Amino acid sequence: MTAALSAPSFVVHGPAEPRVPLVLDSPHSGFAFPADFGSRLDEFDLREGEDCFVDQLYLPATERGVGLIAALAPRTYIDLNRHPADIDLALIEGCRWPGEHVPSGKARLGKALVWRTLDDGRDIYDRKLPVDEVQRRIETFHRPYHGAVHDRIEATHARFGRSWHINCHSMNAVAGAQGEGGAGRARADFVVGDRDGTTCDAGFTEFVRAFLADLGYDVRVNDPYKGVELVRAYSNPAEGRMSLQLEINKRLYMDEATRTQSAGFEPLQRQLATLVDAVLDYAAGELAAAARR
Ligand SMILES: [Zn+2]
Repeated sequence: MTAALSAPSFVVHGPAEPRVPLVLDSPHSGFAFPADFGSRLDEFDLREGEDCFVDQLYLPATERGVGLIAALAPRTYIDLNRHPADIDLALIEGCRWPGEHVPSGKARLGKALVWRTLDDGRDIYDRKLPVDEVQRRIETFHRPYHGAVHDRIEATHARFGRSWHINCHSMNAVAGAQGEGGAGRARADFVVGDRDGTTCDAGFTEFVRAFLADLGYDVRVNDPYKGVELVRAYSNPAEGRMSLQLEINKRLYMDEATRTQSAGFEPLQRQLATLVDAVLDYAAGELAAAARR
């Protein structure tokens, strides 16, 4: 469980080189607040966007040889699960962006690359952001993190011929005013997302769904979370690069009001370790089947 590599934007837990064909990443569990955030809100409120403790939930996987890349900066500072050109023009000085602009539609919810509002609709800033301030966030935080995820998946694929990647998240128990799926909607225990079958083969999605359902959980697929940039960017099922997003309901492991771990944390952590073991067995079976073909 050593931190083998680190940068201002992320840490890699587990072995420095791939030992198994599974990669984990946790883009939203960081809370190291950069000095230049310049928000009108305090840190407790800004952590509302955080997938609290998700990196810690998966740490036992590193003892099984799995690499876990975890972001350090808060999600409300820069959302690493966005395309770097998914710019919310309403937040930018002059409402103009000089480079490529790739809107995902998340700006409508205030949740593009740099968030404009919290889930409850409150403004994060009392100012517009200069272009160079946003560009600095991209260069210092987004580019290195994505480089680390990309390189780890590529190194894994180069070693094993195939790679499996789980993009790890958690979700509020109930949707806020600007939450995906509509305000007040209660979430399932887990949501598995493969962008409607485009980021991994159907067998992997079904394996993870069924494993969690067999543990007694309510599991939805692509509803309301289909997965966003980190499962899209480096996946290619036809080439054996599988990426799957996994959302965990926060009520299973924490008290959302105080942002502290609940009695459910350790049992869930143990169950996720059994999920990782099962995925490693599944991947071994897939590699053996591919070798026979
Ligand atoms: Zn997340």
